[in-house]
Amino acid sequence: MTTPTTLKLERLSVRYGAIEAVRDVSIDVRQGEIVTIIGANGAGKSSLLKCIAGLEPAASGRVLVQGQDVTGLPAHKRLRLGTTLSPEGRGVFSDQSVLDNLLLGAYSLKATPAEIDRLVDNGFELFPRLRERKDQMAGTLSGGEQQMLAMARALMSRPRLLLLDEPSLGLAPLIIRDIFRSIRALREAGLTILLVEQMANQALAISDRAYVLETGRITLEGSGAELLASPAIRASYLGVAL
Ligand code: ATP
Repeated sequence: MTTPTTLKLERLSVRYGAIEAVRDVSIDVRQGEIVTIIGANGAGKSSLLKCIAGLEPAASGRVLVQGQDVTGLPAHKRLRLGTTLSPEGRGVFSDQSVLDNLLLGAYSLKATPAEIDRLVDNGFELFPRLRERKDQMAGTLSGGEQQMLAMARALMSRPRLLLLDEPSLGLAPLIIRDIFRSIRALREAGLTILLVEQMANQALAISDRAYVLETGRITLEGSGAELLASPAIRASYLGVAL
C-alpha cells in the first residue's frame, strides 16, 4: 500500500513584480514524512512556504493538500484544513504571555475549553521550559524559547501539515539539537512536516527526503542520507571543504 500524499505542489511559481522568487516547483510530501528544503539566502524558501500557507499568492501552478486544490484559498481556510506555518523570525507576540501566545494559536479552532487545555498541555509536554515560563512575556524569552513557543503555538491549531521556516536560525548548537529532537518527536506522533533550513546538517539527518532550492528552482532531490553524503551539498550547505 502506498502512503497517501499530504502535500503536492505542481509547477508552483511565486512572483514579486519582476522577481520570480519561486519557479515551477513540483514537490511531494507524503503522510508522516519530514521533508526538508535546503537553500541559500534568497533562494525562495520562505516565499515557497508562505505560498503553501496562503500568505503569498501563486503566480502559476497548484497547491494540493490531501488531494484538495487549495491554491485559491485564503490562509485562514488552509489553517482550518490543517496547514500551519511556523514563520521565520518566529512571530511571537512580545507583549503577551507565553500562555496567551499559545491561546492565540487556537484562535481559529472550533474547540472546547477542555480541548484547548489539552492542546496547551501537549505544548508544555513537548517543551517543558514553556510551562515554567507560562506567565512570562514572550518578548523576554531567549531566542531558543521563542522558537519553542512559535512551534507550540503552531501546534495549537492541530495541524496535519506543519511548515517550519528556519527553526534553527540564530540559535546556539545545544538549543538547535533540542529543537530538532522535538521535530523528530512530532513526526513520531504522526505529524507531516515540511522544513526549510539554510544550515542543513541536522535537518538532513532527521529528514526522510529533501530538495535543494537554488534561485527559486529545485535542482536536486534525494533521501536525507543521500544529500548528506553528496560532496556538492557538503561543500555548499554543510560548511565542509571538498
Ligand atoms: P532567507 O533564507 O534569506 O530567508 P529565502 O530562501 O527564504 O531567504 P525568500 O525570502 O523567499 O528567500 O526570498 C526570495 C526572493 O524573493 C529574494 O530575492 C527576495 O528579495 C524576494 N522577496 C521576498 N519577499 C519579497 C517581497 N515581499 N517583495 C519583493 N521581493 C521579495
